[in-house]
Amino acid sequence: MTARDIIVLMQKPSDADKALIEQAFDLAEKAHAGHKRYSGEPYLNHLTAVGAKLAEMGMGARTIAAGLLHDTIEDTDVTAETVREQFGEEVLFLVEGVTKLSSVRYYGSDRHNESLRKLFVATSQDIRVLIIKLADRLHNMQTLNHVPAEKQLRIARETLEIYVPVAHRLGMGRVRKELEDLAFPYVYPEEYDRVSKLLQAKAGKSNELLERERKVLQKRLAEIGLLDFKTSYRVKGLFSLFHKLKRKEWDITAVYDLLAMRVVVPTVEDCYRTLGIIHKLWRPLPGRVKDYIAFPKPNGYQSLHTTVATPNGVILEIQIRTERMHHESEFGVASHISYKEVVIDGKPAEGQSRFSSLIPSLFRPFSKPKEEKAEIKETKAAPHRDKIPRWIAQIGQTHTKDKSTTAEFVADAQTDFFSNRIFVFTPVGDVVDLPVGATPVDFAYAIHSEVGDHIFGVKVNKKLVQLDSELKNGDIVEIETRKSNKPTAKWLTFVKTSLARRRIKAALEIKEKEGGSNK
Ligand code: MN
Repeated sequence: MTARDIIVLMQKPSDADKALIEQAFDLAEKAHAGHKRYSGEPYLNHLTAVGAKLAEMGMGARTIAAGLLHDTIEDTDVTAETVREQFGEEVLFLVEGVTKLSSVRYYGSDRHNESLRKLFVATSQDIRVLIIKLADRLHNMQTLNHVPAEKQLRIARETLEIYVPVAHRLGMGRVRKELEDLAFPYVYPEEYDRVSKLLQAKAGKSNELLERERKVLQKRLAEIGLLDFKTSYRVKGLFSLFHKLKRKEWDITAVYDLLAMRVVVPTVEDCYRTLGIIHKLWRPLPGRVKDYIAFPKPNGYQSLHTTVATPNGVILEIQIRTERMHHESEFGVASHISYKEVVIDGKPAEGQSRFSSLIPSLFRPFSKPKEEKAEIKETKAAPHRDKIPRWIAQIGQTHTKDKSTTAEFVADAQTDFFSNRIFVFTPVGDVVDLPVGATPVDFAYAIHSEVGDHIFGVKVNKKLVQLDSELKNGDIVEIETRKSNKPTAKWLTFVKTSLARRRIKAALEIKEKEGGSNK
């Protein structure tokens, strides 16, 4: 694959965009010369695959360039300085962001997955870093069979525990489905076999069936005069089928969305009209009509869903949406941010880099998160406005309950999530998230009250430190306990979490009582 193969996948690239991609390709090719993948292929194939995926998602030139260069600083002689000189501050920021993310590792414990996901998002700082990382992981999963067997399970589990939820929350349906189905056989081999066999038995010839029903529908839509539409179909992904089967006691006949047909039409009005046409053509199943256009899913997903039975005895879920909704359901947040990228005179526009330029725009539509009614009204009045994943809007919301103005909310939400929290590790790699300024005592109580109550000494990054020292993002904290050690009143002067404060006060009261009885 060459730079040109990537460029043809881009949406309306300018000459400057094209030049940037060519330049990034050239540097990647030179830097990784002789460097091979486990499969024996040139390493460059991985980089162009990532670049192509980003282009398909509709990402801009700088993100694609960063995708091509994402392993250069870590794995080759290319320095940050070179990347900055040739591609500017922003591409460097993205490449370094991806590099930093590789230090966020999944250690195989499920206890702190939520924190780890948060750490993953916080470390990336810019949604584009996450998107590059997802494209990177997608290609690594597609080539996982070449990786040494002892590494496969960890990588596949990490994919399911960290990357899939992140892709889901970013509304990136296509990446999510691919990642799930690629990881599934490695993580749950027996269940994978069982689900595959069930699906094969139930829907082995499904593509023929779907093709036949599609022709029927196409003909009817054309007859009615709806000419500008696209149809496609899909068989449910194995991993999501696995989850549904678990809920339905493995009864595959209770799964109604095994086969789905998609109809993409120009406008929202056409969506409702198409639903009417379909319900006249095929018998809808009662209670299965869902209007996610008027009421989008939390991650922003919009479509009309209905389930029908055709005269051929096929049960089909039908998803009706506009082109824009379709693009968003496939690429999610990626479809909101690419337009922000502007390349001027062959150099990326500077000065508006980092998440500061992106996150505020992601927050805006949910500026009044507490007022449900206002939010629904807003959605109805402007169905075409950018839909932002609600979880992004809700980051830090717990701390902003009494805030109502947009500016304040945006500012707070950013600082809460990206600045007011730090993420530190236990020696075995579990993640603990704490407020900025937290001390080893806060950390110890976050682990367990017994650990907090008997702190004897603390090592941060293997060095002994004071109990009141301030922890920083990424610190590895080791607490030594001794049964005889007890909290003192002085601890109350420096702890930052209310949990620690409460536990210390409780322990001091006990100590006082014990002291009294000994007199
Ligand atoms: Mn990579």
